[in-house]
Amino acid sequence: MKFGTKVIHAGIEPDASTGAIMTPIFQTSTYAQEAPGIHKGYEYARTQNPTRSVLEINLAALENAQHAICFSSGLAAMDAILRLLNPGDEIIATNDLYGGSYRQIVRVHGRYGIESRFVPMQDLAALEAAIGPKTKLLWIETPTNPMLNIIDIAAVCTVAKKHGVLTCVDNTFASPYLQTPIDLGADIVTHSATKYLGGHSDVVHGAVILNDDGLAQQLRFLQNAVGAIPGPQDCFLILRGIKTLHLRVERACQNAEKIAAFLQKHPKVRNVYYPGFVSHPGHDIAKKQMRHFGAMVSFDLHTDTLDYATHVLSNTKLFTLAESLGGVESLIGHPATMTHASIPAEERRKVGLSDSLIRLSVGIEDVDDLLEDLAQALDRLP
Ligand SMILES: *Cc1c(COP(=O)(O)O)cnc(C)c1O
Repeated sequence: MKFGTKVIHAGIEPDASTGAIMTPIFQTSTYAQEAPGIHKGYEYARTQNPTRSVLEINLAALENAQHAICFSSGLAAMDAILRLLNPGDEIIATNDLYGGSYRQIVRVHGRYGIESRFVPMQDLAALEAAIGPKTKLLWIETPTNPMLNIIDIAAVCTVAKKHGVLTCVDNTFASPYLQTPIDLGADIVTHSATKYLGGHSDVVHGAVILNDDGLAQQLRFLQNAVGAIPGPQDCFLILRGIKTLHLRVERACQNAEKIAAFLQKHPKVRNVYYPGFVSHPGHDIAKKQMRHFGAMVSFDLHTDTLDYATHVLSNTKLFTLAESLGGVESLIGHPATMTHASIPAEERRKVGLSDSLIRLSVGIEDVDDLLEDLAQALDRLP
């Protein structure tokens, strides 16, 4: 089945009891049993819920994998993956990482003896040098947030396999429409489904997707034993969002390409970070592992100050100043004070995240209106 068919049909059957075309929201906490231990496969809704089960089958299909396990948020999904490690184990993550992921690795799991290192994984030699006997997991984000670096997933997975280390790809920025890391050798894929999968900025949700039966069983155990589960209505909203994933991401990528080209020519803009540019250091890898170049664009200003950035951030009208990404509407954000405020300033500077860096999540509006909005905000700069 091709991607545009899977989003609508994979795992989705008319409801057996009524014929309802859309997956019902099973808003129940428990299920009647015929006799002790005799039931229809559903006992208690933390453990199993039919709306959630349908979403899990659908998500596994989108990432070309066997298993998907859903959680109440992207960070709850990450927490379950990190609980596969033991005290004394080490995780190596990309140095240009979502701020909340960095915070969880260092400040939550760090307290329970999980060691961590942050390495620019574009540099395979640096990665290989960092791997030691304690290393158990590599954590990849690509495109990275907010610098939009590209990491060669297949190459990193080859290094990981040589050292017997697991790889997990946070595929939130690309979505499975653009990139399927399991096909490239990754062991685990995770999503903040809050972003492109949901796609309408109306739900917080996360998922872990993988092939390995043993790891899937451990994650399924954690889903039930820890209990960070999504509610059935949230699962319904993600299922609904996924039906148009391919159309939304396609249009958002087209818009982003035009916006990146516009920004690159603007005299007030210093640098545009967008993997679609031939001059971007990760362009060839992006071309190889992604269907398009994504709908995130970052840029900084010639006058690299917080004041100048604030000026642009408070003058756009269609681009709304907000955290998050991947919805139908365009958002504008300031990583240094918003999404990445939890990363120390010197770590931010190391990855090139300047004070004037602005991140756009390009939506699916008419691109002419988006261009006009950015032009008027930039033209007002002194
Ligand atoms: C938002 C985000 C997360 C966290 O997901 P939540 O659903 O907000 O918990 C993790 N990784 C990336 C890349 C994100 O953008």
